[in-house]
Amino acid sequence: MNVVIVGAGPVGLFLAHRLLTLSPSYKIRVYDCNPEPTDSEAADSRGFGLGLGERVQHWLNGIEGLKEQLTNEGTEFTAGGLVLIPRRQLCALLLRLARSATPKEPLLAQSGNHTSQLAVTFNTSVVAVDLARREITIEQETRSETVSYDLLVGADGIHSMIRRAMSIAQPDEINFQQRQRPQVWKVLQLSVKPESSPRIIRLQTRRSQFGLVFGACLPQKNGRFSALIFWQPIDSSDQKNPCGITTVEKLQQLLQEMSPKNSPALEIDRDQAMAFLAASPGREYWSQCDSYHHLEGHAVLIGDAAHGMFSLLGQGCTAAIADAVALSSLFQQHPEQCEIVLPQFSAQQVKEGHAASDLSLIALILYDRGFSLIYKIATVLWVFILRQPSIFAQINRVHASYVQVLQENRFWIWFAKNLY
Ligand SMILES: Cc1cc2nc3c(=O)[nH]c(=O)nc-3n(C[C@H](O)[C@H](O)[C@H](O)COP(=O)(O)OP(=O)(O)OC[C@H]3O[C@@H](n4cnc5c(N)ncnc54)[C@H](O)[C@@H]3O)c2cc1C
Repeated sequence: MNVVIVGAGPVGLFLAHRLLTLSPSYKIRVYDCNPEPTDSEAADSRGFGLGLGERVQHWLNGIEGLKEQLTNEGTEFTAGGLVLIPRRQLCALLLRLARSATPKEPLLAQSGNHTSQLAVTFNTSVVAVDLARREITIEQETRSETVSYDLLVGADGIHSMIRRAMSIAQPDEINFQQRQRPQVWKVLQLSVKPESSPRIIRLQTRRSQFGLVFGACLPQKNGRFSALIFWQPIDSSDQKNPCGITTVEKLQQLLQEMSPKNSPALEIDRDQAMAFLAASPGREYWSQCDSYHHLEGHAVLIGDAAHGMFSLLGQGCTAAIADAVALSSLFQQHPEQCEIVLPQFSAQQVKEGHAASDLSLIALILYDRGFSLIYKIATVLWVFILRQPSIFAQINRVHASYVQVLQENRFWIWFAKNLY
């Protein structure tokens, strides 16, 4: 079966590995418009640590040797069972795994060269999708080519090209909706090690003219830290940088102001600060679709392409990997039968995707000037007086579904949805 996966992000690579270990009958081609992720720890103005909770670790740990590699390359926190790893390093790790995947049931006639079942091509954009012909067009520098497929997987993130093609073909079934988070973000790489034991340093300040600027300083391996900084632009002066800062000195001052009193001095490197000031801010999107597949076009959406969410609860990767687990399990039960697998996949995962993205709307309340205090007081009563788990603890329970967690927090999510 000819599988084309668009997007070599965490979910595209994880799915490639799952399918390759399932059966040697899958011939998988993965395309990504970005360069190959490497193990290099060079500065990356978009690179931040992805927090992987116990739920996603539960699936990743099912792959032999991956737990050790994750903890070697990421930063592990025993309290809360969190592993922090930059997205690029996670992708590099999953790419190595996919390239060395061995089918559980090798074909008798197979030569033993499993790597021929997988081709991952970087710096290659998918620029057109023809669902009726089951073909995509790829573009590499000045060359373009048509590639046919038996199964097309859209793992191409929040601005998915595959989803766009499916929405044009079936607007009512897909019913795509999107919202943008009012806050934008940037990452400042800190090369100076502030202290030996890794910990997350919360950052926050409020300036009367600009409002709240907040985030966290996340430890990485080898003494690096990345400061993920959010703010809500109010006018043209702070569209590009928080509080309208334009110089390295002002950035150092802002970082100092945001750091808690007991935190070590956070020294910034001039080149990294210049890269921060020059970069464009990132945006976060909530998005939902009512179906994740196009039956006749043999196309399916997974990960951020299917459901976008704000980062506050740190569930993007978990919900994405859950899709890959569900899709590959269905193909295990019904090998190569897209007609059975794709509708079942949508039936199973759409409600989970909706619940996960809806839960992330809690960010709108938590960072609202008026309602955040009410939510924080209610949470303190809930956690310390009633001894109930917080939304962060609920969502990281290994076997709890997002639908279940949404049910437990339905009042707040209803409130967030109606408030904005
Ligand atoms: C600020 C921030 C903080 C976050 N923190 C966390 C966290 O702590 N924990 C967590 O779990 N999640 C977090 N997330 C979310 C997480 O990054 C995503 O949910 C996750 O990366 C989704 O994986 P994906 O593989 O579906 O998509 P992506 O990671 O977006 O990968 C999609 C890939 O598709 C490629 N692509 C796109 N279009 C094309 C095309 N036309 N042709 C070829 N290739 C294409 C892209 O180059 C990319 O490599 C955070 C997100 C943000 C923005």
